[in-house]
Amino acid sequence: MKFDCIIIGSGLAAIWSAKFLNEANFSTLIVTKNQVWDCNSFYAQGGVTIANDEKDVPLHIEDTLKAGSFHNKKEAVEVLSKSSLKLIEELALYGFRFDPGVTKEGAHSIPRVYHKGGDATGREIHKFLFKKDKSYFIDEAIVFDILIKKDIAYGVSVFHKNKKYNIYANNVIIASGGIGALYKYDTNARTIAGEMQGIAIEKGIKLKDMEMTQFHPTVFIEMKFSQKLLLTEALRGEGAHIVDEEGKRFLFEYDERGELASRDIVSRAIFLHQQKGHKVFLDVSMFDEEFFKKRFPTIYNKLKDYGINVPYELIPISPAFHYIMGGIEVDLNSKIKGFKNLYAVGEVSNTGVHGANRLASNSLLECFIFGKRAAKEIIKQNFKTKDLEFEINSEELFKNDDKKYKNLLREQMWNNVGIIRNEKGLKEALEFIENSIPKVGRMTKLRFLTAKEIVKSALNRKESLGAHYRIN
Ligand SMILES: Cc1cc2nc3c(=O)[nH]c(=O)nc-3n(C[C@H](O)[C@H](O)[C@H](O)COP(=O)(O)OP(=O)(O)OC[C@H]3O[C@@H](n4cnc5c(N)ncnc54)[C@H](O)[C@@H]3O)c2cc1C
Repeated sequence: MKFDCIIIGSGLAAIWSAKFLNEANFSTLIVTKNQVWDCNSFYAQGGVTIANDEKDVPLHIEDTLKAGSFHNKKEAVEVLSKSSLKLIEELALYGFRFDPGVTKEGAHSIPRVYHKGGDATGREIHKFLFKKDKSYFIDEAIVFDILIKKDIAYGVSVFHKNKKYNIYANNVIIASGGIGALYKYDTNARTIAGEMQGIAIEKGIKLKDMEMTQFHPTVFIEMKFSQKLLLTEALRGEGAHIVDEEGKRFLFEYDERGELASRDIVSRAIFLHQQKGHKVFLDVSMFDEEFFKKRFPTIYNKLKDYGINVPYELIPISPAFHYIMGGIEVDLNSKIKGFKNLYAVGEVSNTGVHGANRLASNSLLECFIFGKRAAKEIIKQNFKTKDLEFEINSEELFKNDDKKYKNLLREQMWNNVGIIRNEKGLKEALEFIENSIPKVGRMTKLRFLTAKEIVKSALNRKESLGAHYRIN
């Protein structure tokens, strides 16, 4: 069977692109690795940034550029912010409404972040949109190759129900998200492993800003699952404090904005304070319990499960990997440069909006704005591929030692390619990656290729910039 469009992934970027393709009667297939909800979009807590009005657009642009250390593509930031003005109405027409009121998050000058279900924004949006989606759909299917000849994509290879097969399409959208599984501590869904970025590298497709990895400062890591519990930025935005074991708000020693400084600054300050032997906590005792329970229900219930008496008890925290600003370089319509019909949307892409560091809650907005632009471009171009048949990649997908190597990689990335980087550590990580690649199956190899690209980019950028922090 051949589709007008295949979308790899089932996160927000995927299903929002699919909405417009469905409306234009473009036959669309969503292929996703596990269950549909097993994606970062589902776990998003804080919300969606939307400029308040025309007057707020320049300020939102300025906040985004400042957070990104002016490494952003200004044109893309303008598209992001201006287009956000129509989003509330567009979603309302579709039947989705946010909770009343907006909140303020770190590095935003004013409140402009919309949420739903308190801290369940991602889950509520994702559930709502997926229910209305009319695409064809395959879950529990791993995409292990993209079928490419010259400047045209012809479809994807999937591993599904123990079989490898090809599916063909006139257009392909990569919406496979970020790279969380590459780090020992991360907030991401377990499906997010940077495999499509690895395929892009194999195919000679350009990735940009891969050294720009964001670490979230407030993560509860004392839990058994590899996905750690994020404590949303909105907590600090709404008054929570970061303190050490003596109750001292030490962040002010690092930045005059204290808890409201940007993520990279707060993460580094916590990391350095921990290295000096301190313990670090989030203090939410200023919140009334009933308010906390209603405003942050996910966090409240999960922490209670772990025996923490919120909001009265201090919550032990650590930074953890959260988001990658870098990705597959795309134009303003999310089309991959040099291709006629291959697109990347959402976290896997680099539209240039985030620069060297992402402003809180700008990524769901990016999924909405650029997901739609990709779909509209596909509809406008109406590109048709010839009926070519591709041989299936015969590489072994999985090998016995994959798990061992994945865990070693996670350690390497956390220790040597983490919050504070130096040449010696980066070179050690590179050597480990290069030596390991021949020993692992294809799927693990793809994540190693992505890791290698991050390390190489981090080595190449000798000066600190935004989230990339080098001490030598
Ligand atoms: C805990 C948490 C909280 C966050 N909170 C916010 C927030 O409040 N506001 C905000 O703006 N951003 C937030 N973010 C970031 C934001 O959620 C993500 O950047 C965004 O959801 C990415 O959406 P996406 O559609 O690009 O990818 P995802 O939603 O991550 O979806 C990727 C999809 O690709 C699939 N996939 C991956 N590899 C393969 C493969 N090989 N084969 C088939 N399918 C594959 C996955 O299974 C998944 O379905 C948060 C992130 C996390 C982890």
